[in-house]
Amino acid sequence: MTDSRIPADLPDHIQHYIDGAFTDSVDGDTFDVLDPVTNENYTTASAGKKTDIDLAVAAAKRAFDDGPWPKMLPRERSRVLHRIADIVESRDQRLAELESFDSGLPITQALGQARRAAENFRFFADLIVAQADDTFKVPGRQINYVNRKPIGVAGLITPWNTPFMLESWKLGPALATGNTVVLKPAEFTPLSASLWAGIFEEAGLPKGVFNLVNGLGEDAGDALVKHPDVPLISFTGESSTGQLIFANAAPFLKGLSMELGGKSPAVVFADADLDAAVNATIFGVFSLNGERCTAGSRILVEQSIYDDFVEKYAAQAKRVKVGLPNDPTTEVGALVHPEHYEKVMSYVEIGKTEGRLVAGGGRPEGFETGNYVAPTVFADVFPDARIFQEEIFGPVVAITPFANDAEALALANNTKYGLAAYIWTNDLKRAHNFASDLEAGMVWLNSNNVRDLRTPFGGVKASGLGHEGGYRSIDFYTDQQAVHINLGEVHNPVFGKQRGR
Ligand code: NAD
Repeated sequence: MTDSRIPADLPDHIQHYIDGAFTDSVDGDTFDVLDPVTNENYTTASAGKKTDIDLAVAAAKRAFDDGPWPKMLPRERSRVLHRIADIVESRDQRLAELESFDSGLPITQALGQARRAAENFRFFADLIVAQADDTFKVPGRQINYVNRKPIGVAGLITPWNTPFMLESWKLGPALATGNTVVLKPAEFTPLSASLWAGIFEEAGLPKGVFNLVNGLGEDAGDALVKHPDVPLISFTGESSTGQLIFANAAPFLKGLSMELGGKSPAVVFADADLDAAVNATIFGVFSLNGERCTAGSRILVEQSIYDDFVEKYAAQAKRVKVGLPNDPTTEVGALVHPEHYEKVMSYVEIGKTEGRLVAGGGRPEGFETGNYVAPTVFADVFPDARIFQEEIFGPVVAITPFANDAEALALANNTKYGLAAYIWTNDLKRAHNFASDLEAGMVWLNSNNVRDLRTPFGGVKASGLGHEGGYRSIDFYTDQQAVHINLGEVHNPVFGKQRGR
């Protein structure tokens, strides 16, 4: 009997893509790729090592040094990027189907992520031609201008949560600016990354510009970070991996952009619209299976509405629909991998000793196999609890009361992370003052993750290094050479009296 859950034409093996051709690892090694609903191996992927990375970097370097891509006009590259966006858009259902199957994400959310991937390409296709020319008139017949140059081979290392979309977030600006790339996707979810090759070929991206090496972080990822011909690394993943990459890239003084972990607070004041805050904070932590870097996984609630909030929140959490990833009514699917499931479940057990369990707390009823965790809510969680401090990256939330604004701020900032924060209040002054005092790279006021692509994306403290988004991505992926020209007479400066700097 065929299982309607399994997409048609799944590959029986996922290869690397180097210099315009699909290829196995030089040593022939592979790793298993699991279906998160059954935890059976549904395919294998080539396990890249240093030798495979060397081949991919050499191809990317040739394409950079000798190929047309870096030399093309921005509007020519822009046309290719728009074609990529068109193809992604036209295949959004298929992409979502494969992503949902591979990662366990609910299909409707995977579809949203596929569309966002197309938008990312379109955005950078437009931005690269709209790039303001950095030319400045200087008094006295002088002009200064900025030569923006692609840097070379960009190493892109990505995680398994919303993999295709997060890859597009790096591929879009890296390619728009004329770099060539080697992508090392997460080993839990290699399926959707392998689709880029066909999309790029069809859109007319020259051979060697995009290269893909699958494999484990400590093998393929490590070799990419340590490769001397890769001058910049854009990494998204855990803070501890970011620290290791930072150290490994240091001897080369590589350009680094790091989007790392989070334990973001959602602060609900007594004057907030309670139902809106409950609904939004439910979505904020349980969407994408809770495997979301910006999840508002610590909810801080003002004392006077605390009991009411917890009651409503627990009732809503119990209504969140757990189901098969391919079911369009599913709101929380299966976690990505049994290793990650075990980690999340261990936090659920820890939480039972640290807080008051008011919803979930284990496997949802009727799901005896697969990586399913019921939406889990702990109330009365103290700030030194592990479930308050550590990133769980699953459908688990901690709720804590606060007495006043000062305590709310202290609690919100009481974490090593600083990625996102959410504020729920109708008091404008309080909202803006509170936002400004928060140690967080991104703050949402009475809003949930709605973000214009022009705004900076990134975290502070252990949540990241640098920002991407809009022109910040263009800055990261380009060298900016300042050229200073004199169109007037040359005045030989007298030492000690030279004007300007
Ligand atoms: P991870 O750090 O385990 O792995 C991320 C990538 O790094 C994978 O491709 C992995 O193979 C690779 N890697 C691992 N060790 C490496 C090494 N020594 N050298 C080079 N590469 C190595 O993270 P994950 O479990 O895949 O993803 C979840 C984490 O990502 C969470 O902490 C989450 O918050 C974070 N995340 C952050 C953002 C953001 O924008 N801030 C977005 C999504 C996910």
